[in-house]
Amino acid sequence: RAKASGSAPFQVFDPTLHQTAIQRLQLEIDLRKALYQQELVVHYQPILALTTSKLVGFEALVRWHHPQKGLVSPAVFIPIAEETGLITQIGHWVLKRSCQQLQQWQAEKRFSAPLTMSVNLSARQFTQPDLVEQIDQILAETQLNPRYLKLEITESAIMRNAEATTSVLQELRKRHIQLSIDDFGTGYSSLSYLHSFPVDTLKIDQSFVQQMGENADSLGLVPLIINIAQKMGMTVVAEGVETQTQLDHLKALNCDFGQGFFFCKPLEADKISALLASKS
Ligand code: C2E
Ligand code: MG
Ligand code: MG
Ligand code: MG
Repeated sequence: RAKASGSAPFQVFDPTLHQTAIQRLQLEIDLRKALYQQELVVHYQPILALTTSKLVGFEALVRWHHPQKGLVSPAVFIPIAEETGLITQIGHWVLKRSCQQLQQWQAEKRFSAPLTMSVNLSARQFTQPDLVEQIDQILAETQLNPRYLKLEITESAIMRNAEATTSVLQELRKRHIQLSIDDFGTGYSSLSYLHSFPVDTLKIDQSFVQQMGENADSLGLVPLIINIAQKMGMTVVAEGVETQTQLDHLKALNCDFGQGFFFCKPLEADKISALLASKS
C-alpha cells in the first residue's frame, strides 16, 4: 500500500507494512492447516443466573494452539478466518464439537436441570445458503435437543443482510433454537430494530459492564439497556463481570444472567466436567 510521506508523494515500499503482511499471510497458511492438524479446541465459560448463582449454561469459545506461537487469541484469528472464508469450516466444527459436548454432559447426568450451549456465529457464516441445513445435520448427529442450543450473533452481522437474516432467524425459531445478540452496544445499538427480529437474549458488551462505577450515578447505559430489553421480552446477560461491585450493581438492576472472570474463566471440557462432578 502506498503511503504519503515528506516530499515524495508516494512511498512504494514500507518495510513495516511488508512485515505485517507477511506475518498475516503466514498466519493464514497456518490456520488452513489448524483444523485437520487438530490445533483448535473449544473452551467453555459458565453463564450464571444472578439471583440464585446457579449455572444455566456455557458459551463455547474457540482456542488455537499454534505449534510455534502458542495460544493465538480468537480476537486475532477469527477476523482472518472471516476474510478468507475459513470461518465456515471452523464455525461448523465449533458448533458440532460444542453440541457433542453438551449432549455428552447431559447424557452423563452431570447436572439436574438442562443447561444451554451458546455458540458464536460470524457474519460470514450467516450468509451461507445451507446454514440451517448444517445446523439440522449437527443436531441430528449429536442428538442434542435444539432447545438447549443458543446462537450468538452481533448486531452488525444481522444488519449486514437484514432480509436474508430474518428468514434464517425464523427458520431457527421454528426449531426452538434460541438466539442472542452478542456485544450489544458496540454496533448499531438500536433497540428499535430488535422488534423485527425473533431474539431471546441480549448480551451487554463487557465494555459497558466494566465502565460501571462505584456509585449508582455512574452506571452508564447499563440500566437503560436492561430495562428496555426486558420490556421487549428478552433476557439479559452481562458479559465480562470481573468484580463484586459490578455483580452487586447488576443484581440491583435485575439483570438476569452474568458471565465473567469473577465467576469463572473459559475452561477446557475436562475442567468443566470436574467442576460439574464436584458440585453434584
Ligand atoms: P465474545 O463472543 O463476546 O466472547 C466473550 C469474550 O470475553 C471471550 O473472549 C471471553 O474469554 C472474554 N471474557 C469472558 N469473561 C471475561 C471477563 O470477565 N473479562 C474480560 N476482560 N474478558 C472476558 P475470547 O475467548 O478471546 O473471544 C473473543 C471473541 O472471539 C468472542 O467474543 C467472539 O466474538 C470471537 N469468538 C470466539 N470463539 C468464536 C467462535 O467459535 N466462532 C466465532 N465466529 N467467533 C468466536
Ligand atoms: Mg459471544
Ligand atoms: Mg460477547
Ligand atoms: Mg465480545
